[in-house]
Amino acid sequence: MRLEGIHHVTCITGDAAGNVEFYTGVLGLRLVKKTVNQDDPTVYHLFYADEEGSPGADITFFEYPGARRGRAGAGMVHTVTFRVASEEALDFWESRLADAHIPTQREGGRLRFADPEGLGLELAVVESADAPLVARHPDIPAELALQGFDSVRAFSAAPDASRELLEGTLGFKPADAGTAAWEVRGAVRGGRYAFDPPPASGAGVPGAGTVHHVAWASNMDEQAAWLDAVRAAGAHASGIIDRFWFRSIYFREPSGVLFEIATLGPGFSIDEDSEHLGESLILPPAFEHLRDRIEPVLTPLPDPRAAWARS
Ligand code: ZN
Repeated sequence: MRLEGIHHVTCITGDAAGNVEFYTGVLGLRLVKKTVNQDDPTVYHLFYADEEGSPGADITFFEYPGARRGRAGAGMVHTVTFRVASEEALDFWESRLADAHIPTQREGGRLRFADPEGLGLELAVVESADAPLVARHPDIPAELALQGFDSVRAFSAAPDASRELLEGTLGFKPADAGTAAWEVRGAVRGGRYAFDPPPASGAGVPGAGTVHHVAWASNMDEQAAWLDAVRAAGAHASGIIDRFWFRSIYFREPSGVLFEIATLGPGFSIDEDSEHLGESLILPPAFEHLRDRIEPVLTPLPDPRAAWARS
């Protein structure tokens, strides 16, 4: 039983329209599902990914309109890293982000920046045999596009406290002796997780521009066994929750970071034609009866690809 790397990373935005513009218009990801937070259906849950909406490329946002900006601290993920193929890709992104007035820092095969609400992002040239997970965009050549997640980095003052759960239960492998960095790799994909010492600026503050949780990918038939394993390790885990496009369990790893284990399927095309993912508001069947109340309170959002045919 092995986890197939990162499934998705869920973050918070206070500005859904600006969020769609940045993640689709600038970063070139595809909006693959426009739905609501199943724990609070008055707010959006927006999913961006590659063309197919694959686990491994899926960054998602809960929208809390006007939410104040947060700040990552101990027990929170502070940086989400996407793979790119080459230094030429970093050249391209350095220039494209500058055109979008996003400051960047380039160092050793990495390009660091923040989204418009301060979420830490990074592009890294990573040698990997994992299939690239790429979205189409008219201004971004496919060979330069984002290829899915490489890793997430979190803050922890006591990374060794997490070692037993990560290595003993979840099958994370230490990247190098003496470092607080791990790889978790299944039959198809891998992903990485690392800790950095927390900033001196104090405790984290959840809010816009922060990561809510990171989900690791489980094979469909192993979810129940993961729940048993996590509980046996002493973590307080939710039960298995049916999120319609996947099934989820949630628990905090010892540093405080909220983990999810999400199944690889059934996936986003279960209720939408894959040609039209993300174009309209989709509610899971259990929420469809709320549509008349939900739609009027959500911020109207454009279909990011509507202009493509005209341009
Ligand atoms: Zn999630």
